[in-house]
Amino acid sequence: MSNSNNLTNIFGENVFNCSVMKAKLPRNVYKNLKRTIDEGVELDPTIADVIANTMKDWALEKGVTHYTHWFQPMTGTTAEKHDAFIAPTADGKVILEFSGKELIKGEPDASSFPNGGIRATFEARGYTAWDCTSPAFIRDNVLCIPTVFVSYTGEALDKKTPLLRSMDALNKQAIRILRLFGNTSTKRVVTTVGAEQEYFLIDKKYYDQRKDLIFAGRTLFGAMPPKGQELEDHYFGSIKDRVAKYMQELDMELWKLGVSAKTEHNEVAPGQFELAPVFTTTNKATDHNQLIMDTLKKVANRNGLVCLLHEKPFAGINGSGKHNNWSMSTDDGQNLLEPGNDPHENAQFLLFLSAVIKAVDTYPELLRLAASNPGNDHRLGANEAPPAIISIFLGDQLTDIIEQLEKGIATSSKQGGELRISVPTLPALPKDNTDRNRTSPFAFTGNKFEFRMVASSLSIAGPNFVLNTIVAEVLKEIADRLEKAADFEMEIQALLQEIVKKHKRIIFNGNNYSDDWVKEAEQRGLPNIRSFVESVPSIIHEKSIKVFEEHGVLNKTELYSRYEIVLEQYIKTINIEALTMVDMSKKQIIPAAIKYCTALAQSINEIKATGLTDLTSVQEEYLKEISNVLISCKAKVLDLENALKNADHENIYDHALAFREEVFSKMAELRRDGDKLETLVDSSLWPMPTYEEMLFNM
Ligand code: ADP
Ligand code: MG
Repeated sequence: MSNSNNLTNIFGENVFNCSVMKAKLPRNVYKNLKRTIDEGVELDPTIADVIANTMKDWALEKGVTHYTHWFQPMTGTTAEKHDAFIAPTADGKVILEFSGKELIKGEPDASSFPNGGIRATFEARGYTAWDCTSPAFIRDNVLCIPTVFVSYTGEALDKKTPLLRSMDALNKQAIRILRLFGNTSTKRVVTTVGAEQEYFLIDKKYYDQRKDLIFAGRTLFGAMPPKGQELEDHYFGSIKDRVAKYMQELDMELWKLGVSAKTEHNEVAPGQFELAPVFTTTNKATDHNQLIMDTLKKVANRNGLVCLLHEKPFAGINGSGKHNNWSMSTDDGQNLLEPGNDPHENAQFLLFLSAVIKAVDTYPELLRLAASNPGNDHRLGANEAPPAIISIFLGDQLTDIIEQLEKGIATSSKQGGELRISVPTLPALPKDNTDRNRTSPFAFTGNKFEFRMVASSLSIAGPNFVLNTIVAEVLKEIADRLEKAADFEMEIQALLQEIVKKHKRIIFNGNNYSDDWVKEAEQRGLPNIRSFVESVPSIIHEKSIKVFEEHGVLNKTELYSRYEIVLEQYIKTINIEALTMVDMSKKQIIPAAIKYCTALAQSINEIKATGLTDLTSVQEEYLKEISNVLISCKAKVLDLENALKNADHENIYDHALAFREEVFSKMAELRRDGDKLETLVDSSLWPMPTYEEMLFNM
């Protein structure tokens, strides 16, 4: 068999996908299930037994013995509880069983997952429910069934439930608009996502010696090496053999899971890399991104490496993000953000485009929050890109069109019975947006938007359910108006003009990293929310509750629970980091510095004993300098411990804010002393691997 044949066989070999289902399921069952998957009609429960049985047989053939409901609780990672297929029989033997009921519903103990007060302690039950829109797959000999996770009373306890609800909401509104344009054939509109994932690789032998990496996923101390990323010679550089082997293995694992990992390259920072899959529907892309993050770590481990997904593993070196490429597409293959050439499509395109513009300008706080986590505070709004201010890059050509729309003259005509809207003042739309702007947090890149703020370790469910919901809301407003309009074309024109006038302030094509932009954005009235904690309250603003409830994505109770959960997670994260710093200072850094001081003192004494009393000045200077830093360092440890003690507040927001403002800044001060000591102490006495080793020795 040729190599390419091999590859096509391997791709998706561990996935119970449509082609397997088509081959193995009875025709009517397959058709029935496919309608649910493609058109979103409710699943017919009577077919579940047949599907479960077929799934089990397929899995058994591949040596699988267990199954699990695979879900995405609010921890941000995935959870699974394995059950064997076996069922005991009366004669003391077992049969292999998997019923429709077991496929459709599971009952994990919800009390071990974050729920933000939703689940009263007397009702620990939670349910997982099969999400048939994302295919089941086999991993490590376990059949994994993608599910949503809800409470006994039906509230979402996970990341997938609101995502699926938001896709439904957007579908409903987008279809209304397509129908107005005379489209009668499209059955469903989905959002599509391709998430580019950045990550770092370091040698496991270094990782194992760093408590900060083990407990916090990032370095809490570490002086800059003489060479950082200033030469930018790592970006697209040749991939080292060891990494090349890793990437090959990674691709193979992902392909088996049906994840279309496509491009892989070095990133700007040394030791940093990126993986991009081909885009797919948002629910699958979300599952795939979780699988990618898991697989990155697993394959690294097998190769004596550790994959760091943290947003900022190394201070002073570019951090990692996730570029969430997003668009809307019909089931018959039309990308609604594809400019096209036909004027009729232009008007439709411009409506969808301006819906996104209006949505982003109306709900920037929600997007800011959705892209954030504690780790991203080191990037957003810090001295690294992208900035915390949300703006949209459109490129020169589209901006020009938008400006013309603002003045808005258009005529319309009907041709051949088909509705045609021509806008003669507009030039042909650009097919490909050739100019690029890598500084924008939200950039139109030809036929999709690239949301570049997303935290590298974060589930992409959040950013996408926010995006879907706010765009659904604007599409709804547009559809409401257009359905009532006496003159469809005139109303479109009026709508476009209105949206552009009101929301063009969100468009910015310049350098988002410059200080000038920060000032200009303020003048434009764009919010600049500086930290994660400060962005959290936006989730329970009246405006947010209204839009999420309107579209059935999350209700007030669910939003309040999320508010609690993320603040609690912030507190826990910073608490762990602070305690780790205290521990490393007391047990590693300060003792190492003392050891060096002792060596210096001994040297001074020994030299003096020879009678050469005037030859100890260097040792004495070092001894003084280090001792001074040591004194300061010890005081900073105490400051941090006190900040931790005083951070407690009854109100959870105040509690989190105290961590952000007091604890966080004391950590930075302690770090300065710790790093200073690293530059002063004999490297052979330094108790942990340095930046230089971790970043450049792989
Ligand atoms: P970059 O230049 O930003 O590194 P890449 O080519 O690496 O871009 O990644 C672009 C990503 O956008 C890929 O994952 C690709 O599949 C995805 N993409 C392309 N078209 C769409 C679309 N219509 N909807 C969503 N994602 C898309
Ligand atoms: Mg990108």
